[in-house]
Amino acid sequence: MTHDIPAKPANPAPAAPLFPWPNGARCALFPGFDVDAESVWIAGDRRNAERLVTLSYGGYEARVGIPKILELLDRYAVKATFFVTGWTAEAHPAACEAIVKGGHEIAHHGYLHLRPEPGDLATMVEEVDRGFDALKRILGVTPVGYRAPSGENFTELLQLLRDRGIRYSSSWRDDIRPYRHRLPDGAGPIEIPVNYSFDDWNFGMSHRTSPRALFGREDVLSIWRDEFDQTREWGGVATMVMHPQVSGRPMRFRILEDFLKHVRQYDDVWWATGREITDHYEACERSITPPDVDAESRATGA
Ligand SMILES: [Zn+2]
Repeated sequence: MTHDIPAKPANPAPAAPLFPWPNGARCALFPGFDVDAESVWIAGDRRNAERLVTLSYGGYEARVGIPKILELLDRYAVKATFFVTGWTAEAHPAACEAIVKGGHEIAHHGYLHLRPEPGDLATMVEEVDRGFDALKRILGVTPVGYRAPSGENFTELLQLLRDRGIRYSSSWRDDIRPYRHRLPDGAGPIEIPVNYSFDDWNFGMSHRTSPRALFGREDVLSIWRDEFDQTREWGGVATMVMHPQVSGRPMRFRILEDFLKHVRQYDDVWWATGREITDHYEACERSITPPDVDAESRATGA
């Protein structure tokens, strides 16, 4: 019965603190790419494992999408975060190694891109641990960031991720600045919130099982420009959720490049990976001195 559900905020974390961005920056841009390859299609329907044309949507990433996006980031001297599923690292080691070689951050995105379902922690333990194992074994990376596959999460999973060493999550949609999760047994990872407006899948993916009209260049650019410009006004972080199988397509690629050009015109934007934002946030947390301690140290001249 719906009236059995307690009426309280779903997220007990307080509003995000107003920590300043580094070097006087007004806002931050977090370029994030979700590298799902074929795993997102298999997770959605196991029968797709034999459907070669469906899988080819994901296969595009390793063949074209990732190399093109790496070249673009290199041209703009941008370091990004790539949330890679463990399955993708195993299936496409060369493409994923190129991401590492480019100096970008690799973060956790599950193993087979299974959507976290509350009440099934056992499946998620396997999914999370297999993801860690694959990224370490194939790429030599121990990730500190996690983006939930298909954008879902629950308390026990967030606790598991924290206990496995995950320092930041990038899945929640309830703020425009980073904040720290509050869990029943203490502090959780930092959240670098995402925004559906910056998810290219919503505008540029169409498939026979989910045929949708694609959004054209001006539609998408106007959304991204407005979203970014207002986030900048408010001093937040614009978190991008791009997919090489979407924005690595020729026409989508141009939209992405034009958006990067738009942001580039401002000189007060901090372009940062998830790990850099997390390092900065944690440094700010450490530098906050409670008022009474502050007064005491002034009195003693310490
Ligand atoms: Zn994904």
